[in-house]
Amino acid sequence: MNQLKLFDVIIVGAGASGLMAAIECGKRGRSVLLIEKSKKPGRKILMAGGGYCNFTNYHIEPTCYLSQNTHFCKSALKQYTQWDFINLVNKHRIPYHEKTKGQLFCDTKNGEILKLLLDECQKKPITIQYNVDVTGVKKVSNQSYQLSTNTGTYACQSLIVATGGLTIPSMGSTAWGYQLAEQFGINVKPLSAGLVPLTLHTEDKKRLSPLSGISFESTVNFKKQSFHENCLITHRGLSGPAILQISSYWQPGQTITVNCLPQIDISTLLGQKCSDQTLKSYLNQYLPKRFLETNLQTNLLNRPLNKLQKKDISELDTALHHWTIKPNGTEGYRTAEVTLGGVDCNDLSSKTMEAKAHKGLFFIGEVVDVTGWLGGYNFQWAWSSGYVAGQYA
Ligand SMILES: Cc1cc2nc3c(=O)[nH]c(=O)nc-3n(C[C@H](O)[C@H](O)[C@H](O)COP(=O)(O)OP(=O)(O)OC[C@H]3O[C@@H](n4cnc5c(N)ncnc54)[C@H](O)[C@@H]3O)c2cc1C
Repeated sequence: MNQLKLFDVIIVGAGASGLMAAIECGKRGRSVLLIEKSKKPGRKILMAGGGYCNFTNYHIEPTCYLSQNTHFCKSALKQYTQWDFINLVNKHRIPYHEKTKGQLFCDTKNGEILKLLLDECQKKPITIQYNVDVTGVKKVSNQSYQLSTNTGTYACQSLIVATGGLTIPSMGSTAWGYQLAEQFGINVKPLSAGLVPLTLHTEDKKRLSPLSGISFESTVNFKKQSFHENCLITHRGLSGPAILQISSYWQPGQTITVNCLPQIDISTLLGQKCSDQTLKSYLNQYLPKRFLETNLQTNLLNRPLNKLQKKDISELDTALHHWTIKPNGTEGYRTAEVTLGGVDCNDLSSKTMEAKAHKGLFFIGEVVDVTGWLGGYNFQWAWSSGYVAGQYA
């Protein structure tokens, strides 16, 4: 007979936020069942940062998160900060380093962050089950939920949804969390791929794809948002950290502007009386020759600096400081790092991550409409929101 098994808390999804929530519930002595659809936990933690896992950032700020409710993330980020996670990493003696812009990476590719989380789950009342399919969820009464699965029927007081977003479908991402929200009448904000390469229209692609592999320092702008990082030309379009960052803000049909030469102000070249160095050789210290030859006229590139005229400066300013590109789209969930949109923050308590209309039902991590910048911000959101739910579930 299919016996009903009881737990205080059931968490669906053994990724970053689900593991964090399990640890915190376990610390409070709550019996936890952590259910994972695939055969292993935390697969994105293992592949993150090229295997080195950019687990947080020194400069976590609520302004580094996108959401239709920009205040929502503040409470969780304050209750469990980057310093709290760094302390945990130190406690486990995991060597790490700051790569750039406050981004913290492990020194080795040994999966230490996942190991830390699994170690923390030990000696706590946490059961982890893999290869589980949840086929149905019903609310039996206030603060009592029942889950039907291929391994049995389970009941709990608190149900935490930590199923993540839709990126890298080959890793088993599912829309389950969004569907569950809808089943319970909770709004889901429109979903799209974020931190993702941008693709180009045919003409631009034809012109730029021979430059594939070229990377340069840039400031990429969309409306009021701007990122100063590297831009990379690929055979499909544009990538690199600056482009991934702006992709989360970019709207289809709109243009982005790239300052390909943020290191200097091109107008200072006017009136350089003594230099007979050609423009091409001068600019080549910042940008590859092939890039210059594709974007500027040959006769302008061959002009000596002391022969540059006002109209040349204006042409250079447009071509290099205000390189305007209208992307065709994004590469989509296949290569994206995050899913924008998700469970509507207005339907959740920012203090606890609990659904306002359903006591005992919590949503955490990427499934919620909170998306961080590139650089450890998304894991910090997973740790912070998981921690918070773990105090109340
Ligand atoms: C290639 C890549 C690199 C990244 N690198 C970084 C980085 O360096 N730094 C950073 O901050 N962020 C990075 N991210 C983003 C980061 O991985 C996510 O934001 C974070 O993992 C979200 O945590 P989560 O717990 O919400 O979801 P996940 O970690 O994705 O966990 C969700 C879990 O739920 C399981 N699941 C899904 N559906 C079901 C279901 N129906 N039943 C049971 N289980 C289910 C999944 O199998 C998974 O184990 C990267 C993402 C990708 C794709």
